[in-house]
Amino acid sequence: MGSRPHLLLIPYPAQGHVAPLLKLATKISEHGIKITFVNTEFIEAKLLASGREKAEEGSLIRFVSVPDGLEGDDRNDPIEMNESVFRVMPGHLKELIEKMNQSDDCEPITCVVADICLGWALEIAHQMGIPAAAFVPFGPPSLAISFQFKRLIESGIIDANGNSMNDELINLSEETLPWKNNEYLWSCSAEPEIQKLLLELLTGVAQAVRISNWVLSNSIYELDSSNCDLVPKILTIGPLLASNHAGNSAGSLILEDSSCLNWLDEQATGSVIYVALGSTTTLNQQQFNELALGLESSGLPFLWVVRWNLVDESFTGFPEGFKERIAGRGKIVEWAAQEKVLAHSSVACFLSHCGWNSTMEGISMGVPFLCWPCFADQYQNRNYICQAWKIGLDLTLDENKIVARHEIQRKVEKLLSDEAIKANALKLKEIAGRSLVEGGPSCKNFRRFVDAIKYNKS
Ligand code: UDP
Repeated sequence: MGSRPHLLLIPYPAQGHVAPLLKLATKISEHGIKITFVNTEFIEAKLLASGREKAEEGSLIRFVSVPDGLEGDDRNDPIEMNESVFRVMPGHLKELIEKMNQSDDCEPITCVVADICLGWALEIAHQMGIPAAAFVPFGPPSLAISFQFKRLIESGIIDANGNSMNDELINLSEETLPWKNNEYLWSCSAEPEIQKLLLELLTGVAQAVRISNWVLSNSIYELDSSNCDLVPKILTIGPLLASNHAGNSAGSLILEDSSCLNWLDEQATGSVIYVALGSTTTLNQQQFNELALGLESSGLPFLWVVRWNLVDESFTGFPEGFKERIAGRGKIVEWAAQEKVLAHSSVACFLSHCGWNSTMEGISMGVPFLCWPCFADQYQNRNYICQAWKIGLDLTLDENKIVARHEIQRKVEKLLSDEAIKANALKLKEIAGRSLVEGGPSCKNFRRFVDAIKYNKS
């Protein structure tokens, strides 16, 4: 048995979870540490089809895949997927670790880094006596409230189903932004089944923290120290960015359309609205039309990511004549190299669903936000963007619960003429950059983790 560090990393099988963990894998491997990265077979196939090499020459990262228990090419039902992942994957993971630990061909696993939503993977490490780190792909506000979930029930603030017992705001501390009862991260889905699933994932957070040696958070301490201070063992190590590493893929599950970068080169500095609502948001046809017409009426160039499944089953196409009218001014792609887009000097603002990765990426590139939260943690992320950090504006729903075209046009204008927001966005970019350089807080925390695994100091 060798004693060199060998880490096993395992993400929850979804875009917003795989990508940041892959970025972390790259960052760790740059310290000469060997990594086995475990994907589901489904995710591994998507990564390969989107351009990731099977095994990059000289790379210390080895990819291994295990079944998720589902047949076919459809993972659109989150409940079915989650149930299957929880039922099937633990057995495969345990077997994989045992096999590697007994093999003469590779070093035994010395640390497991698992998504905090995969509490069972952390339990397996715990039972096998392997040091473990819980990786948190969402922000400190969501981490803090999930960690305190039990206390909130015991204090009579919420019931076991996460419903507010009175209509007051939840204040985790005097310094953190309050949570409104219609914006809890588990209550932002109209579907009770999805709400139940979110509750299940989040109630496991406290136990995951308890049994882990470290809690690795893709965030910046200086931006939200109050929430970070509510969670033990936390090491803020963000922002995790692909752009900080040579020749590394950003972990996209969809092929990036690089033509948008050439298109951005042709646009005026600070002129383009970048519109991307992440990997899972869906709109109905009416909302899609309003977004299209809002972008058109802004009169500005725009780059819009329209995933194949952005619109639900009501999809009938773009509004009539839209593509002809915006030709030359609007660029539509199925998937963009988001970090590169946000870093481009032509981009003026980011119309975003406020997913945590997008939030960190927008902050890192100093781009002001137009916020369109749709699900789970995105509402509170929006609150931090607009109220705490003051780097964006909120899009408001009308009486039909639609973001109307005029609202989009009005808020784009307002955002782009707001010098204070632009200055704040640049200030946060600087803070993000500073946190990563030698001596910066994220850099120091990351080194602490790396040293611990290198020198066996859990
Ligand atoms: N993303 C991308 N290209 C796109 C749209 C999104 O690479 O055209 C990436 C984005 O950079 C981010 C991730 O997809 O890293 C989305 O994660 P996020 O947490 O923002 O949202 P989710 O998809 O989990 O809702």
